Parts: sequence; structure tokens; C-alpha cells
Amino acid sequence: MTKPTTQLKTTPVPPEHFDVLIVGAGISGIGAAYHLAKRCPNKSFVALDMQDSFGGTWWTHRYPGIRSDSDLHTFGYAFKPWTGPPIATSAEILAYMGEVIEENGLAQHIRYKHKIRLAHWRGRDKLWTIESTRTDTGEELTFTANFLWMCQGYYRHSQGYMPNWPAMETFKGRLVHSETWPEDLDYTNKKVVVVGSGATAATIIPAIADDCAHVTMLQRSPTFFITGRNVNELAETLRQLQIDEEWIHEIVRRKILYDQAAFTRRCVEEPDVVANELIGVVRNYLGSDYNVEKHFTPKYRPWRQRIAFIPDADLFKGIAAGKVSVVTDEIERFNETGLLLKSGTQLDADIIVAATGFNISVLGDINFAIDGNPLVFADTVTYRGMMFTGVPNLAWVFGYFRASWTLRADLVASFVCRLLKHMDETGAKKVTVAMRPQDQDMPLLSWIDPENFNPGYMMRAMHLLPKRGNKPEWQHSQDYWSEKDQFSAIDLRNAAFVYE
Ligand SMILES: Cc1cc2nc3c(=O)[nH]c(=O)nc-3n(C[C@H](O)[C@H](O)[C@H](O)COP(=O)(O)OP(=O)(O)OC[C@H]3O[C@@H](n4cnc5c(N)ncnc54)[C@H](O)[C@@H]3O)c2cc1C
Repeated sequence: MTKPTTQLKTTPVPPEHFDVLIVGAGISGIGAAYHLAKRCPNKSFVALDMQDSFGGTWWTHRYPGIRSDSDLHTFGYAFKPWTGPPIATSAEILAYMGEVIEENGLAQHIRYKHKIRLAHWRGRDKLWTIESTRTDTGEELTFTANFLWMCQGYYRHSQGYMPNWPAMETFKGRLVHSETWPEDLDYTNKKVVVVGSGATAATIIPAIADDCAHVTMLQRSPTFFITGRNVNELAETLRQLQIDEEWIHEIVRRKILYDQAAFTRRCVEEPDVVANELIGVVRNYLGSDYNVEKHFTPKYRPWRQRIAFIPDADLFKGIAAGKVSVVTDEIERFNETGLLLKSGTQLDADIIVAATGFNISVLGDINFAIDGNPLVFADTVTYRGMMFTGVPNLAWVFGYFRASWTLRADLVASFVCRLLKHMDETGAKKVTVAMRPQDQDMPLLSWIDPENFNPGYMMRAMHLLPKRGNKPEWQHSQDYWSEKDQFSAIDLRNAAFVYE
């Protein structure tokens, strides 16, 4: 007879309830927590993040030289002055976010190592149920929340986008992705090929060039770059005049945004002139013998893709010094010693770095359901890139592509707090956006207009993203200048908002 085993009775942990649950503790999630604490002090809230600490993008990315490509006056929050040089390292950005958490007592509201798997809206209770798994203990934890504030960013943090090149497995060297940079990667005196031409490649290459035997930037097609000193002269002057840092922050933000708006307008009105100016700067660094036509003359109009900033022209100085070379070609296949290119050229490498971008993750790879039915976001229409038709009590943060992301995260935060207060004042427990009678025949288009903005990572994900209409309410504009006034003027009693 077998001895009866004593079974430990595990009582399932009952769901914990919060008024608002924030998904993510990156720059958007911490911003959301700040705004909630300040503007809706009576709301209980929690921010859950699957990583071990705050920072999101700036915690995940560890490649050499990792830095912002926006200025931190506008990438920083409106409410906290940025006092350092405009382009910041990830360590500096993390320190800034850490101060926001510390100064506003936000740590008590954040829980790390919580991977959210499932979010289910139950109309009967007017509540979201959120199921998460602790990444350290494997424990399953359930939360309920009245409102979900999605600050999950736009890409999968665990793995970057690696194209499926032929014969990758035959390469005898090391193949790494910039998003998951191995701590032990030793590139001293190694031949390194960096595949990519965007901001990431342009950051890694000058950061490692001095230590490597040689670095090659292998690009399929050229990109626009802007060079400049990593100094904001207006901020420096105002500082010399002993102006208060809060004023400096506001004035410098306005000046940067004003200049950016003028530049964006010029890119539309006189794209060839702007293109020639940008390419002319590169030519000045590389000299008349360099094939700028082939390697640094993009085929698209400036601003159709983000223009990477190169502080102190470090990339071009590396090329001019012979430490870095650029190859514009395509990979035919990998082989034991490196890459065979479509032109027939062999590019040998000890290390190949894929700086090839992201896997888009529309809503944090969470399975959403509404009253038992799986939610397909691609079947919804976006309300100003913040809410979705038929999805109750949920706001989504997606920042600007070309201006700093955080400008929009701040605008969305003000809107969400206003919406929550309005619901409290009117006793509403549920809000959903819905097409009004005048919107019923509106043509539905892809989420962004490829004529306007078309980087590869967005194009690959267009089928996963919500639709847009042809009226401002149903579009996700990329225009800070119009949204900053439009968002604060949104009439919450408009028929597009349906309350219960
Ligand atoms: C290398 C790099 C440099 C960039 N530089 C700039 C720049 O200079 N200027 C600019 O405007 N933009 C830049 N961007 C874009 C950048 O991602 C955003 O600006 C910004 O940092 C995004 O912040 P976020 O908080 O919205 O999202 P993220 O930083 O992506 O953070 C989202 C957080 O949500 C968490 N999360 C997601 N899903 C789940 C889930 N299911 N469960 C639990 N947690 C979850 C993630 O773990 C992550 O910590 C850059 C991007 C990269 C990759």
C-alpha cells in the first residue's frame, strides 16, 4: 500500500485591484505614473513591467555608445528640466528617470518582473482582468483594473528583427543583434561588419572603431544624417545669465520645436534643397574623392524616415580616418568567413552585428479579449492614435516618430487624466470610442500613410495595426504642433465617446 502523500494546499492568490493599471515602466509608463499621481491623486494604480528595472528601451539596449538621437530637452518630460548636453547616453536617461521616480515617490507603484500575458474585459463587471507571470519565480498573478493604460512601446524587447539570410548557420564567427548585445563580446582587433544604416549602426560604429581591426558598415541603401555639436547654445547662454532651469527647459523646448517645425516644412516644400544641404555636409567631411553619390545619397525624401543625428560627425571622421568603410550592397548569403554580397564581393568578418531593427509588438504581445472574444486590433479604428473603436477603458501611448516620443506621451497623459476625471464627475464606469453617424461611410486606410513615413519596421507591421479614417479624430497624426492644441480641446461629451 502506498503511503498517502501530504499535499500542500496552495491557496490561489486573489486578484489585486487597482483603478488604473499601467503596462510598462519605460519613459511613457513612468510619465503616466507621474501624471496620475499628480492629477488624479485619489486613483489607486500600479505599473507592471516584465524587465528587472525601469527604463524600457534604455534598459534593454546595451550596445556600445548607446545614446538618444533626439535632444533630451524634448525627449525629457515637460515637467522635469533636462540640464545635461542635448544628446544623452542611456545611463544619463536612466538616471533622469530614476530622479523622477525618487522625487515623486513612484517606486511604491511599480512592480518589475511581471510579464503580462492576458487582458480580458468583462462587460458584466466593467473591469479588465490582467494575468501576469513573475519572470523570477514563475508565479501567476492576477490583477483587476478599471482602466488600462498601455505604455508598452512598439517593439518586442526580448529579440530584435533578424532577417532570414541564406546560410546564416555556416558562418564560423559571431553573429549578434544590436538589441541583445552580449556582455562578453570582445571586438578588440576584430574585423567587424555592422549590417544597417540607421541611428543604431551609426552609433555603434564610431563607438567601437578605435578598438577593432576594421569596421565595415554594410547598408542596402543610404540614409540621411544630420551632424552637429552636442551642445545647445541657447541653453548655455541662458545658463550664463543665471536663468532658472525650469525656464531654460521651457524656452529651449519651444525653440527646438520651432526650429524642427521649420525644418519639417522645408523637407516638404523644398526636399531637394534640404537633401543637397545634408549630403553637402557629408561631402565636406569625406572629400571630393569619396563616392558620396553611392553611399550617402538616399533615394527617399528627407523626413520620410527619422534623420539620425551624428554628434561631432564621429561616423564621418571614422570613415575619413580609414577606420571605417561603407559598402552599399546586399547580402547574397553567409559563408564560413563572412558574407558574399550580390555584387560578388566577399566581405570577411570575425563578428557580424545585425543592426536591422525591431520586431513590432503592437500591444506588448498580450492576448486581449472582450467578453470572451479575442480582440483583433487590426479590425479597430484608432481615435487619434490613443483609443480604439470597441475597446473599453483603454488608452494607448504611441509617441512621435520624428519629433521626440515623449512629447506625445505627455499629451496622451494629460488627455487620459482628463478623461478619468470626467468619468468620475459623471459617474461613468465605461468609455468606448465609436464611429458617429457622420463617420459611417468614412473610407478606412492603413494606420500610417507610407507616403509620409515609411521605415521598414513599420511597413512590416502595417497589417497588425489599427485602421485610420480620413477625419482628424480617426487619424494618428504625427504632428505635435496641431496635436498640442487639439488634444487639450477634445470635447469629452462628443458623440465619439460612448459612456455607460
Ligand atoms: C536604441 C533606441 C534609441 C531610441 N532613441 C530615441 C530618441 O532619441 N528619441 C525618440 O523620440 N525615440 C527614440 N527611440 C524610440 C523609443 O523606443 C521611444 O522613444 C521610447 O523610449 C519608448 O518609450 P516607451 O516607454 O513608450 O516604450 P519602451 O521603452 O519600449 O518601454 C516599454 C516597457 O514596457 C514593457 N512591456 C511591454 N510589454 C509588456 C508586457 N506584456 N508585460 C510587461 N511589461 C511589458 C517593456 O518591458 C518595456 O520596459 C529609440 C529607440 C531605440 C530602440
